[in-house]
Amino acid sequence: MTARFAYTIKSRDGCARAGVFHTPHGDLLTPLFAPVGTQATVKSLTPAQLEELNAGLILANTYHLYLRPGDEIIAQIGGLHTFMHWNRPILTDSGGFQVFSLADSCKIDPDGVTFKSHIDGSIHRITPEKSIAIQENLGADIIMAFDECGSPYDLDKNTAALERTHAWAERCVKAKTRSDQALFGIIQGGVYPELRQRSAEYLSSLDLPGYAIGGLSVGETKKETLSMLELMDRNLPEEKPRYLMGVGSPEDLIMGVQRGIDIFDCVLPTRLARHHAAITRSGRLNITNTRYHSEKSPIDESCSCYTCRNFSSAYIRHLVLAKEMLGATLLTIHNLSVLLSLVNDIRQAIIDGRFDRFASDFLESWENIP
Ligand SMILES: [Zn+2]
Repeated sequence: MTARFAYTIKSRDGCARAGVFHTPHGDLLTPLFAPVGTQATVKSLTPAQLEELNAGLILANTYHLYLRPGDEIIAQIGGLHTFMHWNRPILTDSGGFQVFSLADSCKIDPDGVTFKSHIDGSIHRITPEKSIAIQENLGADIIMAFDECGSPYDLDKNTAALERTHAWAERCVKAKTRSDQALFGIIQGGVYPELRQRSAEYLSSLDLPGYAIGGLSVGETKKETLSMLELMDRNLPEEKPRYLMGVGSPEDLIMGVQRGIDIFDCVLPTRLARHHAAITRSGRLNITNTRYHSEKSPIDESCSCYTCRNFSSAYIRHLVLAKEMLGATLLTIHNLSVLLSLVNDIRQAIIDGRFDRFASDFLESWENIP
């Protein structure tokens, strides 16, 4: 690990941590929430709008960008930062999750995965070495080891997937050539504590600059997710950042931070915005509801985002019903602002030593608005 990817924990409050993760494109303050930019764009927003929201880290998707436009084209244009005009840190996933969930007729063997593109049916093969080569072409600050995500309740499949994930992580470490990218390992193991523990121990022995927890929030119960996170908190190295993949509703952020998680990403705020839903600190609301048809007040009076400072609920409802693009943009700005300001408040509460109180107050007032 190079010093440029050092992680410094500034404050602790119970298991919650507030830290700074250094990357070549700037320091990331944790806990943090990363908006998802699957196709090298956070849907409906410009990079300038994301900067105004003070987003620190953006996630882009290896599988999608490898298939279209192709990682070599992105490398020729100067890498992902230049391509999407985002000069702050970027994380790319390994492509594993999408190969297993999106591609047609995917076949796994010990060496890698062969699959058909979901776009045009063409045949492709990704190995750990290929995943690293693609991610080196894309040039993100944080890259992920190629992994296999098993279904949460199948012990035999999870055991086999875990062994492959470990062998592949080691091959990713060997294949990596760039020193300006931090390679994170991904802990798998479904809902099985002994597998999760084995995975944490094995990947920790590789001394990587950070660790991701994969294969959660894929169908298991909330209680099982939380008990896995508690187990990870006890088994992962203290001084490395922990990234919970694909999880990021407001209550999940609170409960993850309570169990020692530092980094989250989720499509939820951007996807909900495209489905006319706004997230507030007390729950979700659907802007198409008739109760908003002549509502002068903003979506959330306690929010200071661009959308809530300037627009009535009635206007946003009108845009959405008229299928105007600005409707999704304004809702996305608001939803991301809620999550990004929530992680900032969480961070401050940890630094002030009042996170427990903050978390219980938040969870008490959190409910879904009908
Ligand atoms: Zn707002």
